[in-house]
Amino acid sequence: MGFLRIDESKCKKDGICVGECPLVIIYMKDKESVPEMVPGGEQVCLLCGHCVAVCPHGALSHEKIPIEACSPINKDLVINEEQAIQFLRSRRSVRFFKDKPVEKETLQKLIEIARYAPTGSNSQLVEWTVFTDKEKIRNLAGLTVMAVLKMQ
Ligand code: SF4
Repeated sequence: MGFLRIDESKCKKDGICVGECPLVIIYMKDKESVPEMVPGGEQVCLLCGHCVAVCPHGALSHEKIPIEACSPINKDLVINEEQAIQFLRSRRSVRFFKDKPVEKETLQKLIEIARYAPTGSNSQLVEWTVFTDKEKIRNLAGLTVMAVLKMQ
């Protein structure tokens, strides 16, 4: 069974999760069987959650990515082509800032959103360090400029 937990009362045995797994570690013995993880699949599973996300029946849960922990996608908020173009075209780099601290809650919310950015093989090898001390920020900016200049 591996990491997968199948609710047999909900599973329609349509094989969508089998086709979606990027590592092809989910299989069905036959058309009447529920999906299973191949033996040893736990060793290579990317923990990407595609299998959980793709099941339209909510029949599949993953030991490390329980279905209860996955917020459903609100289809009313899916952006259309026109909105996507406007979003990308209106993006600007900000180089002037207000002399006002950003609230801790806002910073936490931004990091929480940013962590959904894709990483190679879902490795999520990302750490965040937030500096709020202006002197430290200035020093860090100086060090970054020096490092860039050294690379040239
Ligand atoms: S989490 Fe990703 S890699 Fe692991 S079984 Fe599901 S789809 Fe496959």
